[in-house]
Amino acid sequence: MLDETATPITAPPAGNRLAPNYHPLQVVLAHGEGSWVTDTDGHRYLDFLAGYSALNFGHRHPALVAAAAAQLDRLTLTSRAFDHELLHPFARAVTELTDTQMLLPMNTGVEAVETAVKAARRWGHEVKGVPDGDATIVVAAEAFHGRTTTAVSMSTDPEARGGFGPYTPGFRIVPYDDVDAVDEAIDASTVAVLVEPVQGEAGVRIPAPGYLPRLRELTETAGALLVLDEVQSGLGRTGATLAQHRSGVQADLTTLGKALGGGLLPVSACVGRADVLGVLEPGTHGSTFGGNPLACAVGLAVVDLLRPGDLQARATELGQEMAERLDGLVDEGLLARVRTVGLWAGLDVAPGLGLAGRELCERLARRGLLAKDTHGATVRLSPPLTIDRADLHHGLDVLTEVLQDAAR
Ligand SMILES: *Cc1c(COP(=O)(O)O)cnc(C)c1O
Repeated sequence: MLDETATPITAPPAGNRLAPNYHPLQVVLAHGEGSWVTDTDGHRYLDFLAGYSALNFGHRHPALVAAAAAQLDRLTLTSRAFDHELLHPFARAVTELTDTQMLLPMNTGVEAVETAVKAARRWGHEVKGVPDGDATIVVAAEAFHGRTTTAVSMSTDPEARGGFGPYTPGFRIVPYDDVDAVDEAIDASTVAVLVEPVQGEAGVRIPAPGYLPRLRELTETAGALLVLDEVQSGLGRTGATLAQHRSGVQADLTTLGKALGGGLLPVSACVGRADVLGVLEPGTHGSTFGGNPLACAVGLAVVDLLRPGDLQARATELGQEMAERLDGLVDEGLLARVRTVGLWAGLDVAPGLGLAGRELCERLARRGLLAKDTHGATVRLSPPLTIDRADLHHGLDVLTEVLQDAAR
């Protein structure tokens, strides 16, 4: 059970040598199993962040650990200079799961996005005939596509972007969930529209139901690619294998990451049309570690977990229960707004509580529940898709109590 004694939320250790590019809750974790983690003092916490969806299957899922352990005893790295026995099976499994034609393996999410950008630009040049250097890609404000120079060049977040110029040119940033703005931004130089089907980092912003279908039509008419960044929304989180499938849309390129590595190691990929990824001939793009045997073994086991569809159904079912409870907190006046899709929620604390998202997360951590604020008073909940129903409700009980205490 939860340890109700307050865990100190302390400063970093004396003599800190770690670069200060994060401001974590000072919970020092030592062990994880399923939906639970334990700190170095033995306090247990229920993990409602789940590595921003990298831990969709919980901590150390037995099937994933077994697949990794077996592969550790066989072969771990070849580099792409040589083929290995799991590379083609991995490409087949992920493309079949996502209903796509071709896969390019990378490691981190931002590399999958970089891959999509390069493929779109090269396709635009070679197939669409856009002069090299003129290609534009329409992206959305408040998006999150990662932290490299090119990814922050697409960002409107001053913290993510400020001071890192010069930026990669060629991005046109328009408001999210605004089809007309995309329409206006598209011209003959546009090779792609690149958005998240649900904006995760922005606080689980869910666009209007017609947004993706209309982007699909617009891009088709304009002869541009639709690229959907599903690094966070993909692989079961929204109740579908891909969030885009919920609106019946198939992107030309889709980026996958986070959960593809099963919470064990970084595994990402760009999947999509063979005639688009096919422009990346030998020498044009790659990665030393992308598609390594260990990554493929884990990725194959991840696909095995998702193939039956039970976890997606579970995300829908448990997500409905979570949404009902969070709606109740809105009715109580404790939350201003809630956005939920699948087992994924963005909640805005009611301004009357005077409680910043960060402070809420610190109080939740003291009560044994881990979650993460995004911006201001917004907190994102993304428990493992494998979470026990009782644990989910327990976490929501803790959230309710902490908010009720704050309102007193
Ligand atoms: C997390 C994330 C990324 C970046 O993934 P990394 O593995 O941190 O590089 C890109 N796009 C989206 C939508 C994400 O949520």
